Amino acid sequence: MILIGTMNITRTRDRGDFHCPTCGGIREYLLKSRRPFLTLYFIPTVPIGGVEFFVRCSGCKSHWDPAILGVDGQAQKELQELAFGGEAFRSAVLVALASGPLDDNAVETLIRISPRLLPEPVSREELGGLCSSAEQNRITAANYVRSVCPGWSVDQRQYALQAMFVAATASGELDQAKLSLLTSLQRSLELTDEEFQTAIESAIEWDVDAAS
Ligand SMILES: [Zn+2]
Repeated sequence: MILIGTMNITRTRDRGDFHCPTCGGIREYLLKSRRPFLTLYFIPTVPIGGVEFFVRCSGCKSHWDPAILGVDGQAQKELQELAFGGEAFRSAVLVALASGPLDDNAVETLIRISPRLLPEPVSREELGGLCSSAEQNRITAANYVRSVCPGWSVDQRQYALQAMFVAATASGELDQAKLSLLTSLQRSLELTDEEFQTAIESAIEWDVDAAS
């Protein structure tokens, strides 16, 4: 019997002080994100829904909409971009892992492109952690991208594809297996051939930037 279920994965994205209506005073809050995942034998595998943000009062543990922080449209957009960057980076890592464990070139390339997607460059340890969790949970690039990309804009899809292309070519030639993976990602991302081509051409500039 295969045990399939769902669970919410919750992460702390930010913290600070706010006025909690329940406590009636200034309290510490945690801004958290929550995302439902499909589990196999109680291990979360792929996300099955979008990211939701909420605020939790550290005093009374009440949950609030992020709007309570006076989070405006701009801040919401930044939160979405933060979530996108993390997802796009993870997608690139999964593409690199598709052809087996990462070699030195792949590790260096992923660390080098990480500041384009993450607030801070990823460390070797963090990258190693991402890889082993992907391997343990048997998460594939195709499944992961299919599940997260509905929350991405067309520009973000193209940008993410650039990162995935750079990751695919990090340890050498683009062989047939990687090419068919990229083609299936194009379908998941619902990009036209022209958008796909543009993204690949822009990806080549990522390396030029690094060399200069
Ligand atoms: Zn409270």
